[in-house]
Amino acid sequence: MPDLHQENKVFSVSAIRNIFSGFLDVLYPRHCFACDKSLHEEKNTYVCESCLKIIEATEARRCIKCGLTLGPGITSSSKGCHECKNNSLRFENSFFVSDNIEPVRTLIRQFKYNKHICLTTPLGSLLANLLHQKTIGEIDFVVPVPLHWKKKQERGFNQSELMAKRISKGLSIPVSTNNLFRARNTLSQTQLSRTQRQENVKGAFKVKIQRCFIKRMFSW
Ligand SMILES: [Zn+2]
Ligand SMILES: [Zn+2]
Repeated sequence: MPDLHQENKVFSVSAIRNIFSGFLDVLYPRHCFACDKSLHEEKNTYVCESCLKIIEATEARRCIKCGLTLGPGITSSSKGCHECKNNSLRFENSFFVSDNIEPVRTLIRQFKYNKHICLTTPLGSLLANLLHQKTIGEIDFVVPVPLHWKKKQERGFNQSELMAKRISKGLSIPVSTNNLFRARNTLSQTQLSRTQRQENVKGAFKVKIQRCFIKRMFSW
């Protein structure tokens, strides 16, 4: 059973830190959110250099659709790996900073569930830097995966939206938060298999086309 009092306290400190970071650094010295190392010599960050280096070193050869790590001798075409080839996935490419392993696993938990939204900057920068290095066609908008309004109300924020805004800033591409919405609430994906995940979100997202969105998409 989560300690709600503790969670609220953590959220309060986190929210206040985002506003008065310099002042709070004196009262609550910063530690790396992944390994707890003191960050007194590393300014304006919440993840230490060592953890960032571990994350950057985990880049692997992957399927361009599902991100599955490709072992020696396993190939993947533009249609993806052997599993993806049989599915009509309606997107061209996907990019991954890391598998769900340490230290990323802890950082995501601290960001998403313990509500340390100050981690938006280091995590969003990792994604923006990765996208900078890739050859991607022209991008019109960065679109975050929307949360159902009930879940957003419970959590207080949409982690995907915060990250999208950081990526938008890093890549100088506008962000669109109003054109895609979640039409129904869905189960958490964390304990589901690949097929169950696909079933779980089937029909859950709808597009709300606005005039300015159409204008931008077709360059009127
Ligand atoms: Zn660390
Ligand atoms: Zn695949």
